[in-house]
Amino acid sequence: MLIVMKPDATPDEVGRVLEIIEHLGFRPHTMPGASRTAIGITGNRGAVDPAHFENLPGVADAIRVTKPYKLISRDLRPERSVIKVGNATIGGDELAIIAGPCAVETVDQVFSAAEAVAKSGARFFRGGAFKPRTSPYAFQGKGEDGLRILAEVRDRFGLNIVTEAMDERGVDLVERYGDCIQIGARNMQNFSLLKYVGRTRKPVLLKRGLSATLDEFLLAAEYVMSEGNYDVILCERGIRTFADHARNTMDLSIVPAVHRLTHLPIIVDPSHGTGRNYMVNPLARAGVAVGADGLIIEIHPCPEEALCDGAQALTLEQYSELYEQVKAIHAVVGEQSLVAAEA
Ligand code: PEP
Ligand code: MN
Repeated sequence: MLIVMKPDATPDEVGRVLEIIEHLGFRPHTMPGASRTAIGITGNRGAVDPAHFENLPGVADAIRVTKPYKLISRDLRPERSVIKVGNATIGGDELAIIAGPCAVETVDQVFSAAEAVAKSGARFFRGGAFKPRTSPYAFQGKGEDGLRILAEVRDRFGLNIVTEAMDERGVDLVERYGDCIQIGARNMQNFSLLKYVGRTRKPVLLKRGLSATLDEFLLAAEYVMSEGNYDVILCERGIRTFADHARNTMDLSIVPAVHRLTHLPIIVDPSHGTGRNYMVNPLARAGVAVGADGLIIEIHPCPEEALCDGAQALTLEQYSELYEQVKAIHAVVGEQSLVAAEA
Protein backbone atom coordinates (compact mmCIF):
# COMPACT_ATOMS: atom_id res chain seq x y z
CA MET A 1 0.00 0.00 0.00
CA LEU A 2 1.11 3.48 -0.88
CA ILE A 3 -0.42 6.59 0.66
CA VAL A 4 -0.20 9.72 -1.46
CA MET A 5 -0.68 12.91 0.52
CA LYS A 6 -2.26 16.05 -0.94
CA PRO A 7 0.28 18.70 -1.98
CA ASP A 8 -0.90 20.95 0.86
CA ALA A 9 -1.04 18.23 3.55
CA THR A 10 0.24 19.50 6.90
CA PRO A 11 2.94 17.77 8.97
CA ASP A 12 0.23 16.85 11.49
CA GLU A 13 -1.80 15.15 8.78
CA VAL A 14 1.27 13.19 7.66
CA GLY A 15 1.97 12.34 11.31
CA ARG A 16 -1.54 10.94 11.76
CA VAL A 17 -1.04 8.59 8.80
CA LEU A 18 2.29 7.41 10.24
CA GLU A 19 0.65 6.75 13.60
CA ILE A 20 -2.06 4.60 12.06
CA ILE A 21 0.46 2.59 10.03
CA GLU A 22 2.50 1.90 13.17
CA HIS A 23 -0.63 1.11 15.15
CA LEU A 24 -1.50 -1.54 12.57
CA GLY A 25 1.94 -3.09 13.25
CA PHE A 26 3.49 -2.02 9.93
CA ARG A 27 6.42 0.20 9.02
CA PRO A 28 5.92 3.56 7.30
CA HIS A 29 8.51 4.94 4.86
CA THR A 30 8.05 8.64 4.20
CA MET A 31 9.26 9.92 0.84
CA PRO A 32 8.96 13.68 0.53
CA GLY A 33 8.82 14.72 -3.12
CA ALA A 34 8.84 17.92 -5.14
CA SER A 35 5.06 18.16 -5.37
CA ARG A 36 3.78 15.82 -2.65
CA THR A 37 4.78 13.42 0.10
CA ALA A 38 4.14 9.72 -0.33
CA ILE A 39 4.28 7.07 2.37
CA GLY A 40 5.15 3.47 1.59
CA ILE A 41 4.01 0.69 3.93
CA THR A 42 6.07 -2.44 4.56
CA GLY A 43 5.77 -5.28 7.03
CA ASN A 44 2.26 -6.31 5.96
CA ARG A 45 1.79 -9.89 4.81
CA GLY A 46 -1.52 -9.49 2.99
CA ALA A 47 -3.25 -6.50 1.45
CA VAL A 48 -3.82 -3.45 3.65
CA ASP A 49 -7.37 -2.11 3.64
CA PRO A 50 -7.36 1.35 2.02
CA ALA A 51 -10.35 2.27 4.20
CA HIS A 52 -7.90 2.93 7.06
CA PHE A 53 -6.54 5.93 5.19
CA GLU A 54 -8.80 7.06 2.37
CA ASN A 55 -10.87 9.50 4.33
CA LEU A 56 -8.19 10.97 6.55
CA PRO A 57 -7.51 14.69 6.19
CA GLY A 58 -4.59 15.41 3.85
CA VAL A 59 -4.72 12.02 2.11
CA ALA A 60 -5.12 12.21 -1.68
CA ASP A 61 -5.06 8.48 -2.41
CA ALA A 62 -4.37 5.05 -0.92
CA ILE A 63 -3.05 2.83 -3.71
CA ARG A 64 -2.55 -0.94 -3.69
CA VAL A 65 0.92 -1.86 -4.93
CA THR A 66 0.78 -4.66 -7.45
CA LYS A 67 4.50 -4.78 -8.32
CA PRO A 68 6.89 -6.89 -6.22
CA TYR A 69 8.73 -3.76 -5.06
CA LYS A 70 7.41 -0.72 -3.28
CA LEU A 71 10.07 1.69 -2.08
CA ILE A 72 12.26 1.78 -5.18
CA SER A 73 9.23 2.54 -7.34
CA ARG A 74 8.47 5.73 -9.22
CA ASP A 75 4.90 5.36 -7.94
CA LEU A 76 6.26 6.25 -4.54
CA ARG A 77 8.55 9.00 -5.80
CA PRO A 78 7.92 10.19 -9.36
CA GLU A 79 11.03 12.37 -9.58
CA ARG A 80 14.52 10.93 -9.65
CA SER A 81 16.42 10.65 -6.38
CA VAL A 82 19.60 12.60 -5.93
CA ILE A 83 21.82 10.78 -3.45
CA LYS A 84 24.26 12.66 -1.27
CA VAL A 85 27.64 10.95 -1.08
CA GLY A 86 30.06 12.80 1.18
CA ASN A 87 30.08 16.39 -0.07
CA ALA A 88 28.84 15.56 -3.59
CA THR A 89 25.78 13.93 -5.17
CA ILE A 90 24.93 11.10 -7.54
CA GLY A 91 21.78 11.19 -9.64
CA GLY A 92 21.41 14.89 -10.34
CA ASP A 93 22.27 16.88 -13.46
CA GLU A 94 25.96 16.26 -13.05
CA LEU A 95 27.60 13.10 -14.34
CA ALA A 96 29.17 11.27 -11.37
CA ILE A 97 32.60 9.83 -12.08
CA ILE A 98 34.03 7.39 -9.55
CA ALA A 99 37.59 6.43 -10.44
CA GLY A 100 40.49 4.71 -8.76
CA PRO A 101 42.34 1.41 -8.64
CA CYS A 102 40.66 -1.97 -8.28
CA ALA A 103 42.54 -2.53 -5.04
CA VAL A 104 44.41 -0.36 -2.58
CA GLU A 105 48.00 -1.60 -2.88
CA THR A 106 50.45 1.05 -1.68
CA VAL A 107 50.29 4.66 -0.55
CA ASP A 108 52.18 5.77 -3.68
CA GLN A 109 49.91 3.85 -6.03
CA VAL A 110 46.77 5.23 -4.39
CA PHE A 111 48.01 8.81 -4.12
CA SER A 112 49.14 9.06 -7.73
CA ALA A 113 45.77 7.70 -8.90
CA ALA A 114 43.97 10.10 -6.55
CA GLU A 115 45.96 13.05 -7.87
CA ALA A 116 44.81 12.26 -11.42
CA VAL A 117 41.20 11.84 -10.29
CA ALA A 118 41.18 15.12 -8.36
CA LYS A 119 42.86 16.93 -11.26
CA SER A 120 40.22 15.73 -13.71
CA GLY A 121 37.45 17.33 -11.65
CA ALA A 122 35.80 14.05 -10.59
CA ARG A 123 34.39 14.00 -7.06
CA PHE A 124 34.65 10.31 -6.13
CA PHE A 125 37.50 7.91 -5.55
CA ARG A 126 37.24 4.11 -5.51
CA GLY A 127 39.63 1.44 -4.26
CA GLY A 128 39.01 -1.94 -2.67
CA ALA A 129 40.43 -2.77 0.74
CA PHE A 130 38.42 -6.01 0.91
CA LYS A 131 38.61 -7.86 -2.40
CA PRO A 132 36.23 -10.68 -3.39
CA ARG A 133 38.65 -12.87 -5.37
CA THR A 134 37.79 -16.05 -7.23
CA SER A 135 40.85 -17.78 -5.79
CA PRO A 136 41.59 -17.84 -2.06
CA TYR A 137 45.29 -17.57 -2.97
CA ALA A 138 44.90 -14.27 -4.85
CA PHE A 139 45.52 -10.89 -3.17
CA GLN A 140 42.63 -10.33 -0.75
CA GLY A 141 43.13 -6.63 -0.07
CA LYS A 142 44.80 -4.65 2.69
CA GLY A 143 41.80 -4.52 4.99
CA GLU A 144 41.67 -1.74 7.57
CA ASP A 145 45.15 -0.48 6.59
CA GLY A 146 43.77 0.05 3.10
CA LEU A 147 40.81 1.96 4.47
CA ARG A 148 43.17 4.25 6.39
CA ILE A 149 44.93 5.10 3.13
CA LEU A 150 41.56 5.88 1.52
CA ALA A 151 40.63 8.15 4.41
CA GLU A 152 43.89 10.03 3.80
CA VAL A 153 42.87 10.45 0.16
CA ARG A 154 39.71 12.19 1.31
CA ASP A 155 41.63 14.54 3.57
CA ARG A 156 44.37 15.30 1.10
CA PHE A 157 42.48 15.43 -2.22
CA GLY A 158 38.91 16.22 -1.12
CA LEU A 159 37.55 13.14 -2.92
CA ASN A 160 34.59 11.12 -1.60
CA ILE A 161 35.45 7.49 -0.95
CA VAL A 162 33.52 4.55 -2.41
CA THR A 163 34.75 1.18 -1.18
CA GLU A 164 33.48 -2.37 -0.88
CA ALA A 165 32.38 -4.23 2.23
CA MET A 166 32.00 -8.00 2.06
CA ASP A 167 30.60 -8.73 5.50
CA GLU A 168 29.17 -7.01 8.56
CA ARG A 169 32.54 -6.23 10.11
CA GLY A 170 33.61 -4.70 6.79
CA VAL A 171 30.46 -2.56 6.75
CA ASP A 172 31.27 -1.18 10.21
CA LEU A 173 34.79 -0.29 9.06
CA VAL A 174 33.73 1.22 5.73
CA GLU A 175 31.14 3.27 7.60
CA ARG A 176 33.93 4.65 9.74
CA TYR A 177 36.46 5.40 6.98
CA GLY A 178 34.49 5.77 3.74
CA ASP A 179 31.61 7.79 2.28
CA CYS A 180 29.75 5.09 0.33
CA ILE A 181 29.49 1.35 0.98
CA GLN A 182 29.89 -0.75 -2.16
CA ILE A 183 28.10 -4.09 -2.21
CA GLY A 184 29.76 -6.18 -4.88
CA ALA A 185 28.14 -8.28 -7.59
CA ARG A 186 28.81 -11.50 -5.66
CA ASN A 187 26.95 -10.20 -2.64
CA MET A 188 23.95 -8.71 -4.43
CA GLN A 189 21.75 -11.44 -3.01
CA ASN A 190 23.43 -11.71 0.38
CA PHE A 191 20.18 -10.73 2.02
CA SER A 192 21.47 -10.49 5.58
CA LEU A 193 24.25 -8.14 4.39
CA LEU A 194 21.72 -6.07 2.44
CA LYS A 195 19.59 -5.71 5.57
CA TYR A 196 22.66 -4.80 7.58
CA VAL A 197 23.67 -1.95 5.23
CA GLY A 198 20.02 -0.95 5.23
CA ARG A 199 20.44 -0.11 8.92
CA THR A 200 23.47 2.12 8.35
CA ARG A 201 23.25 5.78 7.41
CA LYS A 202 25.83 5.69 4.62
CA PRO A 203 24.81 5.57 0.95
CA VAL A 204 25.09 2.17 -0.72
CA LEU A 205 26.44 1.42 -4.20
CA LEU A 206 24.75 -1.83 -5.15
CA LYS A 207 26.31 -3.74 -8.04
CA ARG A 208 24.23 -6.04 -10.18
CA GLY A 209 24.77 -9.76 -9.59
CA LEU A 210 26.52 -11.77 -12.30
CA SER A 211 23.27 -13.33 -13.46
CA ALA A 212 20.66 -11.13 -11.83
CA THR A 213 17.48 -10.19 -13.65
CA LEU A 214 16.15 -6.65 -13.44
CA ASP A 215 13.59 -7.71 -10.80
CA GLU A 216 16.19 -9.47 -8.68
CA PHE A 217 18.43 -6.40 -8.89
CA LEU A 218 15.62 -4.04 -7.89
CA LEU A 219 14.47 -6.32 -5.07
CA ALA A 220 18.02 -6.31 -3.71
CA ALA A 221 17.79 -2.50 -3.55
CA GLU A 222 14.36 -2.90 -1.95
CA TYR A 223 15.99 -5.01 0.81
CA VAL A 224 18.30 -2.12 1.70
CA MET A 225 15.52 0.46 1.58
CA SER A 226 13.07 -1.65 3.56
CA GLU A 227 15.42 -1.27 6.54
CA GLY A 228 15.26 2.52 6.29
CA ASN A 229 18.31 3.41 4.20
CA TYR A 230 16.92 5.06 1.06
CA ASP A 231 20.27 6.16 -0.35
CA VAL A 232 20.92 3.42 -2.88
CA ILE A 233 22.79 3.82 -6.16
CA LEU A 234 22.52 0.95 -8.64
CA CYS A 235 25.42 -0.18 -10.81
CA GLU A 236 25.39 -2.23 -14.01
CA ARG A 237 28.72 -4.08 -14.18
CA GLY A 238 28.13 -6.64 -16.90
CA ILE A 239 26.54 -10.07 -16.73
CA ARG A 240 27.56 -13.60 -17.71
CA THR A 241 26.55 -14.64 -21.20
CA PHE A 242 27.89 -17.07 -23.81
CA ALA A 243 29.96 -14.26 -25.34
CA ASP A 244 33.63 -14.75 -24.54
CA HIS A 245 35.28 -11.81 -26.28
CA ALA A 246 34.88 -9.75 -23.11
CA ARG A 247 34.98 -10.60 -19.40
CA ASN A 248 31.26 -9.90 -19.11
CA THR A 249 28.50 -8.56 -21.34
CA MET A 250 27.48 -5.02 -20.51
CA ASP A 251 23.72 -4.87 -20.46
CA LEU A 252 23.18 -1.21 -21.23
CA SER A 253 19.47 -1.65 -21.91
CA ILE A 254 19.04 -1.98 -18.18
CA VAL A 255 19.71 1.76 -17.78
CA PRO A 256 16.48 3.01 -19.40
CA ALA A 257 14.62 0.02 -17.87
CA VAL A 258 15.79 1.06 -14.40
CA HIS A 259 14.92 4.71 -15.02
CA ARG A 260 11.43 3.75 -16.08
CA LEU A 261 10.70 1.73 -12.93
CA THR A 262 12.64 3.39 -10.18
CA HIS A 263 13.64 6.80 -8.89
CA LEU A 264 17.09 5.47 -7.93
CA PRO A 265 20.16 6.51 -9.93
CA ILE A 266 22.10 3.96 -11.96
CA ILE A 267 25.74 4.15 -12.94
CA VAL A 268 27.70 1.80 -15.19
CA ASP A 269 31.02 0.02 -14.73
CA PRO A 270 32.68 -0.59 -18.11
CA SER A 271 35.84 -1.85 -16.35
CA HIS A 272 34.31 -5.04 -14.94
CA GLY A 273 31.71 -4.90 -17.72
CA THR A 274 34.37 -5.58 -20.35
CA GLY A 275 37.55 -6.61 -18.53
CA ARG A 276 39.59 -5.24 -21.43
CA ASN A 277 41.50 -1.98 -21.40
CA TYR A 278 40.64 -1.09 -25.02
CA MET A 279 36.90 -1.59 -24.48
CA VAL A 280 36.55 0.56 -21.38
CA ASN A 281 36.47 3.93 -23.10
CA PRO A 282 33.93 3.00 -25.85
CA LEU A 283 31.59 1.34 -23.34
CA ALA A 284 31.94 4.26 -20.93
CA ARG A 285 30.86 6.61 -23.71
CA ALA A 286 27.98 4.30 -24.60
CA GLY A 287 26.88 4.17 -20.95
CA VAL A 288 26.69 7.93 -20.74
CA ALA A 289 24.90 8.16 -24.09
CA VAL A 290 22.28 5.69 -22.89
CA GLY A 291 21.55 7.89 -19.87
CA ALA A 292 23.59 6.50 -16.98
CA ASP A 293 23.93 8.83 -14.01
CA GLY A 294 27.62 8.11 -13.70
CA LEU A 295 30.54 5.78 -14.27
CA ILE A 296 32.88 3.74 -12.13
CA ILE A 297 36.28 3.34 -13.75
CA GLU A 298 39.35 1.39 -12.68
CA ILE A 299 42.66 3.17 -13.19
CA HIS A 300 46.24 2.39 -12.17
CA PRO A 301 49.49 4.37 -12.42
CA CYS A 302 51.11 1.22 -13.79
CA PRO A 303 48.46 -1.30 -14.93
CA GLU A 304 50.98 -4.03 -15.75
CA GLU A 305 51.99 -4.13 -12.08
CA ALA A 306 48.44 -4.17 -10.67
CA LEU A 307 47.72 -6.87 -8.08
CA CYS A 308 44.14 -7.13 -9.28
CA ASP A 309 42.30 -6.49 -12.57
CA GLY A 310 45.29 -5.00 -14.39
CA ALA A 311 43.93 -6.01 -17.81
CA GLN A 312 41.02 -3.62 -17.48
CA ALA A 313 42.79 -0.75 -15.69
CA LEU A 314 43.22 2.50 -17.61
CA THR A 315 46.47 4.40 -17.37
CA LEU A 316 46.15 7.84 -15.82
CA GLU A 317 46.48 9.42 -19.28
CA GLN A 318 43.76 7.18 -20.73
CA TYR A 319 41.58 8.14 -17.81
CA SER A 320 41.87 11.89 -18.36
CA GLU A 321 41.09 11.41 -22.04
CA LEU A 322 38.01 9.36 -21.12
CA TYR A 323 36.91 12.00 -18.62
CA GLU A 324 36.90 14.77 -21.22
CA GLN A 325 35.06 12.61 -23.76
CA VAL A 326 32.29 11.42 -21.45
CA LYS A 327 31.75 14.94 -20.10
CA ALA A 328 31.23 16.16 -23.68
CA ILE A 329 28.76 13.36 -24.40
CA HIS A 330 26.92 14.01 -21.16
CA ALA A 331 26.50 17.69 -22.07
CA VAL A 332 24.87 16.71 -25.38
CA VAL A 333 22.62 14.09 -23.75
CA GLY A 334 21.53 16.69 -21.18
CA GLU A 335 20.71 19.25 -23.89
CA GLN A 336 18.78 16.67 -25.90
CA SER A 337 16.60 15.71 -22.95
CA LEU A 338 15.86 19.40 -22.32
CA VAL A 339 14.79 19.80 -25.95
CA ALA A 340 12.62 16.65 -25.67
CA ALA A 341 11.02 17.94 -22.45
CA GLU A 342 10.14 21.27 -24.12
CA ALA A 343 8.68 19.68 -27.27
C1 PEP B 1 35.10 -4.08 -7.90
O1 PEP B 1 34.41 -3.07 -8.08
O2 PEP B 1 36.33 -4.04 -7.72
C2 PEP B 1 34.44 -5.40 -7.95
C3 PEP B 1 34.98 -6.46 -7.37
O3 PEP B 1 33.32 -5.37 -8.66
P1 PEP B 1 32.19 -6.51 -8.92
O4 PEP B 1 31.59 -6.79 -7.58
O5 PEP B 1 31.25 -5.82 -9.87
O6 PEP B 1 32.88 -7.68 -9.53
MN1 MN C 1 38.21 -4.78 -9.96
